[in-house]
Order: sequence, then structure tokens, then C-alpha cells
Amino acid sequence: TSFGFRNVAREQKQTLVNDVFHQVADRYDLMNDLMSGGMHRLWKDAMVAALAPPRAQGRRFKVLDVAGGTGDIATRIVNQGGAATRAVVCDINGSMLSVGRDRAEKAGLADRLRFVEGNAEDLPFPDASFDAYTIAFGIRNVPRIDQALREARRVLKRGGRFLCLEFSQVDVAGLDRIYDQFSFNAIPAIGRVITGDGEPYRYLVESIRKFPHQERFAEMIREAGFSRVTYRNYSGGIACLHSAWAI
Ligand code: SAM
Repeated sequence: TSFGFRNVAREQKQTLVNDVFHQVADRYDLMNDLMSGGMHRLWKDAMVAALAPPRAQGRRFKVLDVAGGTGDIATRIVNQGGAATRAVVCDINGSMLSVGRDRAEKAGLADRLRFVEGNAEDLPFPDASFDAYTIAFGIRNVPRIDQALREARRVLKRGGRFLCLEFSQVDVAGLDRIYDQFSFNAIPAIGRVITGDGEPYRYLVESIRKFPHQERFAEMIREAGFSRVTYRNYSGGIACLHSAWAI
């Protein structure tokens, strides 16, 4: 295979993930719409509704959106919240961030959104500095998930909220087979049409299959020191939102 995506070591895994997102940064949102049939928008809106950033004008609320890419989640959050709701988008990939930075400027949100390059496993922020931590379709790509979860716990203030949206395990009989077929065939095909290479998307599909089941992932969140861990499936478990609190 062109990238040799199978059985890669952890460090390599990160490099390969980085290649995929450098390649698609400017077409990233189009890819999402095509690959999820537009559903990622509904799931993301549901995530932001669950976060419920305060609308009261004076109430400061600082969110860290990790693996935030082009700022899709962070933009929704500041648009939902009051004027004192701010978000920092942190991503390992400078190409995704610069697309986001341009977009934020055009939307007049430059004073409420910040873009910072950084690794989810080693966040460049002090302890207890955020009211909420969000990560959407990102944790699956991080080589050491347990380390990323510990970092999430570290940067949250007491009483802070953790929300993670991720592709998960489909739990509806029948839908699982259709979904398998779609993801194995259609997703790499769409990737090939848009970027000229389907192989990286085969890797992304595999990473969805290898991602821990909803219950197991909830357990990992608890192990990282979070409390009141719950989760909610969307579209039969194609996506899942995990919620927890730093207490
Ligand atoms: N959250 C955005 C969204 O939902 O539209 C972007 C999700 S995109 C599928 C995954 C993002 O994870 C990419 O922008 C990628 O650069 C980022 N990423 C991968 N590994 C990372 C790491 N170790 N630390 C931070 N970001 C990472």
C-alpha cells in the first residue's frame, strides 16, 4: 500500500495521521459532509447543546477544544454561548489550524477563538485552566488515549466538564452490516476522489473498529480520574458522546 498503513508503530501512527490532515485541511469540511452524509453536523450540534455554554453576557466560560482542527466545534460553542464564552482550539496540525484561523477572522470571531498548536498527550496549558474540555473525532487518532485523558483531567478546573464525541460501535442489528459495508468501501472511495488516495481513509476506518467499546471507553475516562461518566449513542452508535466531570 502506498503509505504502508498496516501494523504501524505508535510514533509512525501519529505521523501518518498528520499526513492525512495536512493533505485534506482545505477540503476537510467537504470530506466530513460526504463521508457522514451531513450527519456530523447534527452530532456536533448535540454535543454543543449538551455542553450548554452559559448565555449570560458577563459569565466567563473558557473551553479547550482539543484536536479541534479547523475550529468547527469551537465556532459552534462561541456562537451558542454569551460574549464571555471563549474557546482555544488546540491541534497538532498547523495546516488545519491555519484554515481555522482564517475562517475565524472572516467570521469576526478572532477575539473569541484562539488557535494553538499542541499535542493532546502533552497539552501546552497550565493545570486547572479551563471550564470545559471538548474533543470531537480526535481522540481515536491519538496514539496514547490514556495519556490524553489524564491531560484533559489536568487542565480542567474543579467542576469542569469533559465531553468527547467519537465514532463508536454500532449496536443496532442490521445497521452494523450496512455500516461496515459503507465504511469499508465508500469512505476510501470518497477519499480517493477528493485527495487522489484512498489508503489513508482505509486506515481511518480501521481506527474506528479498533476504538474501545462505549462501556470500556467510559471505564478509561474513570481511570483518568473523572467522575459521573455517562454516554449517549447517536445514530445507533455510529457516533457516541461521552460526558464526565472533574470533581
Ligand atoms: N474536531 C474537528 C472536527 O470535529 O471537525 C477535527 C477532527 S479531525 C477528524 C481530527 C483532528 O485530530 C485533526 O485535525 C488532527 O490533526 C488532530 N490530531 C491528531 N492527532 C492529534 C494529537 N496527538 N494531538 C492533537 N490533535 C491531534
